[in-house]
Amino acid sequence: GFEVNHLVKQYANADKPVLDDISFKVEHGSVLVVLGPSGSGKSTLLRTIAGLEPIQGGTISINNQVIDAGKPGTERAGRSDRSSELRTRIGMVFQSYDLFPNKTVLGNITMAPVLVQKRDKSEVEAEAIRLLGRVGLADRKDSWPHELSGGQRQRVAICRALILHPEVLLLDEITAALDPEMVREVLDVVLELAKSGQTMLIVTHEMQFARAIADHIILLDGGRIVEESYDAQAFFEHPQTERAQQFLHTFE
Ligand code: ATP
Ligand code: MG
Repeated sequence: GFEVNHLVKQYANADKPVLDDISFKVEHGSVLVVLGPSGSGKSTLLRTIAGLEPIQGGTISINNQVIDAGKPGTERAGRSDRSSELRTRIGMVFQSYDLFPNKTVLGNITMAPVLVQKRDKSEVEAEAIRLLGRVGLADRKDSWPHELSGGQRQRVAICRALILHPEVLLLDEITAALDPEMVREVLDVVLELAKSGQTMLIVTHEMQFARAIADHIILLDGGRIVEESYDAQAFFEHPQTERAQQFLHTFE
C-alpha cells in the first residue's frame, strides 16, 4: 500500500501551507479519488507524492518504506531529493498531453525503461506493444504525437507511465482538456486498470466516473481533508459535512 502521514506543503512566499497535515492510506490494488474545489491543493498533493515538489513536514511511504520526509526550509527547492529508482515507483499522468513531440508513440513509451531502468530494448518494445493493445492503439506505434487525437495521446501517456510498473499511478484531471467525445475512451481505460488491480490516486471532476471507480474518497478544501469515505455510494448520496454537500451541489 501507499501512505501519507501529516504531510505539510508550503510554497515560497505563501503565508500558510497549501497542504496542512494531510494523512490517508491507499490499500494495494485500490483506488482513491481526490475531490475538491479549484485551488484546494489537489494537484499540489499529487505533485508532492510524485516527488516533483519538496515537502516541509510529514512523510510519504510505499509498502511501509518512507520515500520522502518533510524538511523545514525547503520551500524554494525545485524537487524532493528522492532517488531516481524511488521516482520510477510512482507514475503520473497530467491534464496536458506531455508526450515528446520528436518521438514516435513507441519511442515515447520505451525511452524511460531503456534509459533509466536499463531494461532490454526488445523486451521493452514487446511490452509497449502489449500495452498499446490494451488501450486500443495496437496499430499506432509508429505514429507521431501530432498525428493523434487528444484522447489517443492521453492513452499513450498512460502506457508510458504503466511500462515502469509503478506501485501507484497518479492521474491529475487527465480528461479535463479533452473534447467530450474523447473523454469516454480514456475513462474506460482507467476503469479497466482499476479492475486489473492497479493502485491509483485520481483527481477528477467527472462525478459519475468518480462514483464508479472510487474505493475511497477524500474531499480537500483549504489544504485540509474535510471529508473522507470508504463508501462512494454513501458519500455521493449522503455527504456528512456541510462543505461536502455544498461541493456536490455545484455538480448538479
Ligand atoms: P484546480 O482544481 O484548479 O486544478 P488544485 O486543487 O489542483 O486546483 P493546486 O494547483 O494544487 O490546486 O493549487 C493550490 C494552491 O497553491 C493555489 O492557491 C495555488 O495558487 C497555489 N500554487 C500552486 N502552485 C504553486 C506554485 N508553484 N507556487 C506558488 N503557489 C502555487
Ligand atoms: Mg489541479
